[in-house]
Amino acid sequence: MTQTAPRPQLAHLTAVLNDLRAKGTHFRLRVLEDQQAPVCHYDGKQVINLASNNYLGLANHPRLIEVAVAATEAFGVGSGAVRTIAGTMRIHMELEEKIAAFKNVEACVVFQSGFTANAGTVSSILGKEDYIISDELNHASIIDGARLSRANIKVFRHKDVAHCEEILAELANKPGHKLVITDGVFSMDGDIGPVDKLALLAEKYGAIMMVDDAHASGVLGRNGRGSVDHFKMHGKVDVQVGTLSKAIGALGGYVCGSKDLIDYLYHRARPFLFSTSHPPSVAATCIEAFNILEQEPERIERLWTNTRYFQAELKRVGFNIGGINTPATETPITPLIVGDGGKTMEFSRALFDEGVMATGIAFPTVPEGKSRIRMILTSEHTKAQLDQALETLERVAKRMGILQ
Ligand SMILES: *Cc1c(COP(=O)(O)O)cnc(C)c1O
Repeated sequence: MTQTAPRPQLAHLTAVLNDLRAKGTHFRLRVLEDQQAPVCHYDGKQVINLASNNYLGLANHPRLIEVAVAATEAFGVGSGAVRTIAGTMRIHMELEEKIAAFKNVEACVVFQSGFTANAGTVSSILGKEDYIISDELNHASIIDGARLSRANIKVFRHKDVAHCEEILAELANKPGHKLVITDGVFSMDGDIGPVDKLALLAEKYGAIMMVDDAHASGVLGRNGRGSVDHFKMHGKVDVQVGTLSKAIGALGGYVCGSKDLIDYLYHRARPFLFSTSHPPSVAATCIEAFNILEQEPERIERLWTNTRYFQAELKRVGFNIGGINTPATETPITPLIVGDGGKTMEFSRALFDEGVMATGIAFPTVPEGKSRIRMILTSEHTKAQLDQALETLERVAKRMGILQ
C-alpha cells in the first residue's frame, strides 16, 4: 500500500526540501532515454550533452559493448560474493594486472566505485593517532574516508603548498602517520592539483602521498595515465586512486601502489571486504577500455582540441569560466560561474529548454555564492555541436542578463 498521509517522523526532511524549493535549488532528476552520447534525449527532449563524464566516448563504444556481452555470456551477470569470500573471478585479477601494468606500479586493487576506493583506502590506512592533511576542495569521498578513519583532519587552503608545509612542520614532532592528499584534477573547477610540489613536501616530512585521479584518469598524462605521469612523479606518490566510471566509461575505482599496500587493502579496506565485487561484464569492459587508451590516443587529442576551442570561445564572448574569484580551469571541466544558486538553476533549465544539457551546481556541492553551470567536453563532440551550444549559451545568457 502506498503511503498517503505524511508521517511526522520525517517532517524535518520535508522542511529541508521546502527550503530548497524556496531558494530555487531543488532539482528533479533528468532521465536519459538513450545512450550517454554528445546528442541524446533527456526527459523526451533532444539535447547537446555537455554534462557527462564520458570524456572519450567509451561509455557506448561498440567494442566495449561487445566484450561486456561476451563476458556476460561466458561468466554470468553477477560475481555472487565479496572478493574475500568467493567473489574473485579470474577477470577481476586480469583487470587489476592490466591497470598495474598500464600505470607502471607493482599492484592494483579494484573497488566498486571511485568513492569506495577513496573512502575505503583513507579510512583503513590511518587511525586515530594519525593526521590527514587535505586540500580544502578535495572530493567528498576523501572527506568521508578521513572521518571514518578517526584521524585528525587538517585542511590546507586550495592548492596552497606553503600552507600545507606549515601544517606539516607543526606536526613534525607529533607521533602518528601523516597523509598528504590532493585531487589530481578538481571536479568542480577543473584545475590541476600541485601533485609534484606536494609529493616533494610529503617526502621531505616523511608523509604518505596520495592522489585522487578520478578526473585525471584517461585525461592527463601519456595515454591518460593520470596526474602522476603528467608531472613525471613516478615512484613519488604512494597511493594513486583512479576511477573506471568517468573516462573509462563503465563503473569502479582502483588504487595503485606497492604490493604491500594492495595486499593490506585486500585485508582491511571495508568496501572490499563487505560489498560484492563487479559483475564480470564491468571488468571485461574496463580491460578493453585500457586497450583503447593504448591504441587510440587520438581520442585524447580530440578531447583537448575540443576543450581549447570551446573554452576560448566562451571567454571571447565574455563568460566568466573561472580564474577570478574561483580557480581557473586547466582541463575539459568547464565551469561557467553565475554566482546566485537560484539564478544558476534557472539558467540551466532555460538552456535545457533550448536544447543544451548543462547542469547547474549550487551549495553544498560548491560554496555559497559560487554557483555555476558545469560543462565537460568530450572527444566525441563535433565542431557543429559545439558551435550550436555556444550560440545557445550566449543567446540565453544575454536574455537572462547573465551576459551583457
Ligand atoms: C567522481 C569522483 C570520485 C568518485 O568516483 P566514482 O567512480 O564515480 O565513485 C572520486 N573523486 C573525485 C575527485 C571525483 O570527481
